Amino acid sequence: MMKTLSSGNCTLSVPAKNSYRMVVLGASRVGKSSIVSRFLNGRFEDQYTPTIEDFHRKVYNIRGDMYQLDILDTSGNHPFPAMRRLSILTGDVFILVFSLDNRESFDEVKRLQKQILEVKSCLKNKTKEAAELPMVICGNKNDHSELCRQVPATEAELLVSGDENCAYFEVSAKKNTNVDEMFYVLFSMAKLPHEMSPALHRKISVQHGDAFHPRPFCMRRVKDTGAYGMVSPFARRPSVNSDLKYIKAKVLREGQARERDKCTIQ
Ligand code: GDP
Ligand code: MG
Repeated sequence: MMKTLSSGNCTLSVPAKNSYRMVVLGASRVGKSSIVSRFLNGRFEDQYTPTIEDFHRKVYNIRGDMYQLDILDTSGNHPFPAMRRLSILTGDVFILVFSLDNRESFDEVKRLQKQILEVKSCLKNKTKEAAELPMVICGNKNDHSELCRQVPATEAELLVSGDENCAYFEVSAKKNTNVDEMFYVLFSMAKLPHEMSPALHRKISVQHGDAFHPRPFCMRRVKDTGAYGMVSPFARRPSVNSDLKYIKAKVLREGQARERDKCTIQ
């Protein structure tokens, strides 16, 4: 299955197997949107703008192959628990954020981690296999003085110990500390191309979206230089119906991939 995106004068086709969704969860005001903003455009705003639920899309051309990353930046207080469940079900990779100077936000991350494992285990039962769940837990605002710290690093590290798909990072969206490293590790755990992390591709604006144009000459040029990423200006949160279809297709795809692997091993 191919997804076709239109961008200016070029049409981008992304194979379904190269489409991923990253879900960002955590209490209000911990810096979720600031981390997403660092990822998308490298900027930071001191001003707080409450998020209801923001949806972003970034498309990549990595050595000639198209990839798509959808980003769901959730609201800290979820008025509709069923929507949060759905967001979790559609997620391929997760970032759970708390603020190092706020103990309650860490407790919320613990609850969220438990909820993700519970919700995802429904899919696991359907596919009868253990699901890999790449997840990073982020202690944000590490630019604040150590005196403000309410969560010791050792305690946060316990949440990820023993799980090779889970990592803990202390970051600052404000100072841009450790943010690129965190994305790099998250994408490595999810077996996504590491060029998806912000420091490892050239950022292309829509005006220069020709770098994505599928004409052979352009592709050759893109292949030569490696990796390009472009924030899609047309991203809109898919409907609940599309989300349900996405989950169904993913379960099917993963089941087929496992069957193929079994056949190859035998
Ligand atoms: P969200 O509600 O989790 O999406 O949080 P926001 O990203 O909107 O950030 C909430 C507030 O914290 C804003 O005023 C940001 O400027 C501020 N903030 C976000 N990240 C940092 C950080 O790393 N350090 C500091 N000092 N402030 C931050
Ligand atoms: Mg927000």
